Amino acid sequence: MPRVLALMAHPDDIEITCAGTLILLKAAGWDVHLATMTAGDLGSSTLPAAAISRVRRKEAAASAALLGAGYTCLGIADLTIAHTERHKRIVTGLLRAVRPDILITHPPVDYMADHEQTSYLARDAAFGSTIPNWKALPPIGVRSRKALPPCEALPALLFADPIDLATPDGGRARAHYVVDISPVLEQKAAMLAAHASQRAWLHEQHGEDEYLHWMRRVGVERAKDFGKRSVTHAEGFVPYLGHAFPKHDVLTTALGRGRVKTLRQR
Ligand SMILES: [Zn+2]
Repeated sequence: MPRVLALMAHPDDIEITCAGTLILLKAAGWDVHLATMTAGDLGSSTLPAAAISRVRRKEAAASAALLGAGYTCLGIADLTIAHTERHKRIVTGLLRAVRPDILITHPPVDYMADHEQTSYLARDAAFGSTIPNWKALPPIGVRSRKALPPCEALPALLFADPIDLATPDGGRARAHYVVDISPVLEQKAAMLAAHASQRAWLHEQHGEDEYLHWMRRVGVERAKDFGKRSVTHAEGFVPYLGHAFPKHDVLTTALGRGRVKTLRQR
């Protein structure tokens, strides 16, 4: 069974940016695994880090369970994700355990360093995952694990949209592919709603259900690229086409032409 791994910085990043596409891949027969670098330990104004981390690990696992996916938290702390040897070896351990055909992560330019560093870590750890002399480490908090063999091949690497589709200069990020997620929008909303602590926090600040409204607004904005009235919500992706990484169009192959639109031909 082909397998997709989504690796992002914090709990709920996956749900916001690419859960619709993961739901479609699952329905198309793909095995899906979700992973976050952190447990979201800064995601509360009232609970201490250890307590909110426990809550958010459970929420992320509940979201993954709705999708029938596995979930791994790599145990790194919020705002400390860095392109270091140690973090690269930890991400390699994840890749050798999951062995994905597609790897989805943040784009290399996003609104904060945790996201950008995760993107670089994902790319370089994927590269290292196939190299026998590059040693992996287990996630933080996991004592020992038998050394896993190197991966046979590099995964196809896809960058999801930046948060709010925003570029640092205030522009709108361009996508290479857009995926029509209209039929699975409510499933995506249910996965995001599983992050109840974050939903409640935003609700308090805004006096309404901003968490889900926000996700829907971004989906509507990306759907404009599809240019079809029936497509109400979409997610965008840019493939990483650098040296050695697979270059074929994995999304259209997996989901079909009706569901994926290519905006930029190579
Ligand atoms: Zn994040």
